[in-house]
Amino acid sequence: MAILYVVATPIGNLKDITLRALEVLKEVDFILAEDTRETLKLLNFYTVKTPVISYFQHSSLKKIDHILGLLEQGKNLALVSDAGTPGINDPGGKLIEEVVKKFGDSVWVVPVPGPNAAITALSICGFNTDRFLFLGYPPHKKGRKKFFTEISQSKYPVVFYESVHRILKTLNELNQFENLKDRQTVVARELTKKFETIYRGTISEILPQIEKQKLGEFAVVIKDGK
Ligand code: SAM
Repeated sequence: MAILYVVATPIGNLKDITLRALEVLKEVDFILAEDTRETLKLLNFYTVKTPVISYFQHSSLKKIDHILGLLEQGKNLALVSDAGTPGINDPGGKLIEEVVKKFGDSVWVVPVPGPNAAITALSICGFNTDRFLFLGYPPHKKGRKKFFTEISQSKYPVVFYESVHRILKTLNELNQFENLKDRQTVVARELTKKFETIYRGTISEILPQIEKQKLGEFAVVIKDGK
C-alpha cells in the first residue's frame, strides 16, 4: 500500500527537524515540495538525495493526476512545504483531499509532526494558551475589519501570521480598536533564526521597535480581553 507522508520541516533553524522526518525524506520515492529551491537547502544540508517534484496550492489538475498516478503505482511520497507543517497556511490540503477521495483507505496518509510558527509563538507568549484562536493571515481587503473585530472580541489569545510588508499597517490598524489599546501582545520575528526577536508589550510600545524592520517573518499573539 502506497504512503503519502505529510512531513513538517524547520521554520528557520535547519536543526529543527525530527530524526523520523529525515528518515522518511531519505526513504520515500519522491518528495513533493512547494518551492524546490527552498527544500533543496534542507535536503543538501542533510545529504538527502531523493528526487523532488514541485507541488503548490494552484498546481494544475495534470500535476495532481501525475502525483495520484505515482501513488497508484505504489510509490511512497513525502509532502513538505517551504517551512513548518504542510497544510497550515500552506499547500497540502487540496492534495490530501484528492488522495483521500480517490484512494480511501488504500493509501495511507501519515503525519510526521514537527515545527509550526503559530505554535512556536504561542509556546513563548506567556499567556494562558489552554485555548487559543488561530486566524492565519489578515485578509488584505474584504473581511479585514471583521478579522480585527474578531481579535478584539476573542475570549482566547489570538495568534496570526503577517508579512514584513504589512506588519506595521496591521498593528496600526489593530491599535485603533479601543479595547485592544492596552492588550498585552507578543510579536515574534524570525523565530528559531539568527535574528530571532520577541517584542512584548502593548501594540503602541511594540510599534516603534519594529518600525525599522525591513526583513523577517512575523507571528503575532494578542492576549484575550478577559
Ligand atoms: N506552514 C507554516 C507553519 O507551519 O508555520 C506556515 C506557513 S505561512 C505560508 C508562512 C508564515 O508563517 C510567514 O509569513 C510568517 O507569518 C509565519 N512564519 C513562518 N516562519 C516564521 C518564523 N521563523 N518566525 C515567525 N513567523 C514565521
